Amino acid sequence: MTIAIQNPIKFLDLAGQDAPIRDQLRSAANRIIDQGNYILGSDVQDFESAFADYCGTTHAVGVASGLAALELILRAYDVGPGDEVIVPAHTFVGTAAPVAIVGATPVCADVKGDDYTLDPSKLEDALSDKTKAIIVVHLYGRTADMDAILAFARSHNLKVIEDAAQAHGATYKGRRTGSLADAAGFSCYPTKNLGASGDAGVVTTDDADLAHKIKALRNCGQFEKNQHSLLPCNHRLDTLQAALLNVRLTMLDSWLKGRQQVAAWYAKSLADSSVTLPLEDEEDQVSAWHLYVIRSEHRDALKDYLARLGIGTAIHYPNPVHLQPYFSTLGYQTGDFPVAEAHCSSILSLPMHPNLTREQVEIIGDAIKQFDRQVG
Ligand SMILES: *Cc1c(COP(=O)(O)O)cnc(C)c1O
Repeated sequence: MTIAIQNPIKFLDLAGQDAPIRDQLRSAANRIIDQGNYILGSDVQDFESAFADYCGTTHAVGVASGLAALELILRAYDVGPGDEVIVPAHTFVGTAAPVAIVGATPVCADVKGDDYTLDPSKLEDALSDKTKAIIVVHLYGRTADMDAILAFARSHNLKVIEDAAQAHGATYKGRRTGSLADAAGFSCYPTKNLGASGDAGVVTTDDADLAHKIKALRNCGQFEKNQHSLLPCNHRLDTLQAALLNVRLTMLDSWLKGRQQVAAWYAKSLADSSVTLPLEDEEDQVSAWHLYVIRSEHRDALKDYLARLGIGTAIHYPNPVHLQPYFSTLGYQTGDFPVAEAHCSSILSLPMHPNLTREQVEIIGDAIKQFDRQVG
C-alpha cells in the first residue's frame, strides 16, 4: 500500500522562511527607495562590518555574486594566464568558472568518499610548478579538511581560498567559515543559507591589502574616483540587497539551528533505510546543513518515486566539473576522478530548510523506506 501525502513537501520555502521578518524586509526596501541611493553607501558598509564580525575576520567586502567574490579574490592575488588553481572535481561549476574567467587553468582533484570535500591525499597529483592556489569548497555546508589542506598549501607556497557559498555559519574547530584560510568567497544567491532577494556575494579576509584592492576592483578599478588603475570590473553589491541581507543576517543563527534540527530528524528517520546518510556533526565540524544529501544505488527511481508522492528533491550536481562541456579543452576523461563520478550518479538532495516540521521529515523517511521495500 502506498502512503498518501496530503500536502506536497517543497524542496525549499523561501517565502515561509521570511515570514517572521517580512515587515522588516519591506521597511528596509522602502527606506532604500525613499532615500534613492542605490549604489554602495552605509547599508553596504553595515553589512560588511556585521558579516566580518559574524565570520570572525577583520574585513568583508560586499560583491555582486559568489562567482564575482571568487573572481575578485583571484584577480587581487594576480592569478591569471599561465597559472593553475586546484579545485575539487565535485562541486558547482561556479567554483571552477572564476579560475577560467581570470584566464588561469582549473586543475581538478578528487573528493572524499564520505563527506564530498576535497581529498587532501589527492592534492599532490594536481600540483605543478604553475599552481598558485587551492579553492576548497565546504560542500553542502560541511567544512573541508582544512588542517591537512593548509599544511599542503603552506609547504608549496600556495594561497588557500574558501568557496563558502554553501556554508555560512559552519564551524571547523570552533571557527566559522570565512576565517579558515587566506580569503573566502560567499554567495548570497536567494537559496543559500544567507540569501539576498537577487544576486549578491561577499568576500571575507584578514588581509587588509587584499580587501582594499577588492574594494577598488569591484568598483571599476578605482581607488580614487575617476582614477581607474585596476581592471575596471563592475562587481558591486547592490545597496538594496545589502539592506535586505542586514535584516536576514539577524536570523542566520536561528535558521542554522532549524537546519541542524531537520538534519537530526532525518538521521533518526532514515537510520534503518537503505540510503547512505551524510556524516553527522562533531565538535570539530559543525555543518551549516545547506543541503541534506543522501546516496542511493537507485537514485533516479527514488527521485521519481518521491516526485510522484509530491516530495521535491534535487541533484547537486549531476555532472562533475571535469566533464562539463565548457571544460572539454582541459582534456579530462570519464574515469579520471572516480569518487566524484560515483557521487554524481548516486546523490540526492532531500528537502532542507528551517521550516520543515518533524512530521514532514518522518513522512519523507517513511516514503524512502517504502521505496526500499518495493525495490527489495
Ligand atoms: C552558489 C555557488 C557558487 C556561485 O554563487 P553565485 O552567487 O550563484 O555566483 C559557487 N560555488 C558554490 C559551491 C555554490 O554553491
